[in-house]
Amino acid sequence: MRNVYLSDTELPKKWYNILPDLPGKLEPYLDPETKEPVTPDKLLAIFPQALIEQEVSDKRWIDIPEEVLEVYRLWRPTPLRRAYRLEKFLNTPAKIFFKDESVSAAGSHKPNTSVPQAYFNKIEGIKRLSTETGAGQWGSALSFACNLFGIECTVYMVKVSYNQKPYRRILMETWGGKVIPSPSPFTQSGKKVLEKDPNNPGSLGIAISEAVEDAATHNDTHYALGSVLNHVLLHQTVIGLEAKEQFKRINLEPDVVIACVGGGSNFGGIVFPFLMDKFHNGKKNMRFIAVEPAACPTLTAGKFEYDFGDEAGLTPLMKMYTLGHDFIPPSIHAGGLRYHGDSPIISYLYNQNLIEAVSVEQTRVFEAALIFSRTEGIIPAPESSHAIRVAIDEAIKARELREERVILFNLSGHGYFDLTAYDLYMKGELKD
Ligand SMILES: *Cc1c(COP(=O)(O)O)cnc(C)c1O
Repeated sequence: MRNVYLSDTELPKKWYNILPDLPGKLEPYLDPETKEPVTPDKLLAIFPQALIEQEVSDKRWIDIPEEVLEVYRLWRPTPLRRAYRLEKFLNTPAKIFFKDESVSAAGSHKPNTSVPQAYFNKIEGIKRLSTETGAGQWGSALSFACNLFGIECTVYMVKVSYNQKPYRRILMETWGGKVIPSPSPFTQSGKKVLEKDPNNPGSLGIAISEAVEDAATHNDTHYALGSVLNHVLLHQTVIGLEAKEQFKRINLEPDVVIACVGGGSNFGGIVFPFLMDKFHNGKKNMRFIAVEPAACPTLTAGKFEYDFGDEAGLTPLMKMYTLGHDFIPPSIHAGGLRYHGDSPIISYLYNQNLIEAVSVEQTRVFEAALIFSRTEGIIPAPESSHAIRVAIDEAIKARELREERVILFNLSGHGYFDLTAYDLYMKGELKD
């Protein structure tokens, strides 16, 4: 079978919360000023109650509201595809499958969480969400979701990207989002930067500070984050829950599950439901590989310690693998993987040796991206191509060992807005 589809009625009705299944408890978030555990009232200034509860919930299953399911059905359930042509190209006995999250309107897995986030804010009376975006993937996913629930969306977009990458901005504006180049003169944090340096190109750290300040200073406005936090990974578990069901249909099971890691949300989304079996059904042999860029090797070279989520040190401190909140990753083409830290849950699992991590160089990633494009047709996002690289490496190892291993990777998004990077690679101008 080439594609395994589920019907509308088979869409998961609950998200899987991994927190109660972890072998231990996660360290609490700490207040940036007092260094004491964060109190809920501080979080309530920028997040809705429902999401704060999900963040620390000890319930294994959390209902997906019908209003969210109704929107999910625009593109979910997503196909599980077998990459026969890639297998043939590699001459491998391995079976390679991928979960195709590129079929959403925004072209990535991010609407799996932007939609419930917009919904839970809407029902608590919030009129507007503010957020930051680098290359524009999260900003477009949130603009899409806010529009569907009739709330406004303000996106602080890193100024260089705003100027150099107009298409994602236009996508956001088409869905009704208001896009502001950051640093902007509309917030104190933005003003401060501009006073010192009117030509500052911006950074994700500055954009986060602007978006958080916007939410904290307006009663009708909340802030939304596209990765890292527990509730974001929770929403993404629809990916793995569907994939498990799809594998059941064809009487197979993956031996190894692979996904790229920026903040960890698409990795957590596909892996957690399979990891649950490892916890409960003694499936000890299933492997899980997190793939990160060599230019931003958070898990493989970072320290496991408390750090801020942003550059300015305004967010709570989280216990995670981090390269330091002042680490400025080189500008690689997988913009979505340039984050100094990582999800606290993913960090915990890695620290406990329950998952593996590898880092890969950019040119090897694009080599894999081209192989995939030319065998399977879909042009993958540079982020997703990190997972493809390692899936190919695993398939080659299987060939050498003459092993019929079953490989699953997550295609977290397509790369149709990243063609400039493909152009550079094909011209031989892309460097590690
Ligand atoms: C944002 C993004 C990522 C990285 O984010 P995670 O939270 O680590 O999943 C990966 N792939 C695509 C296509 C993205 O847009």
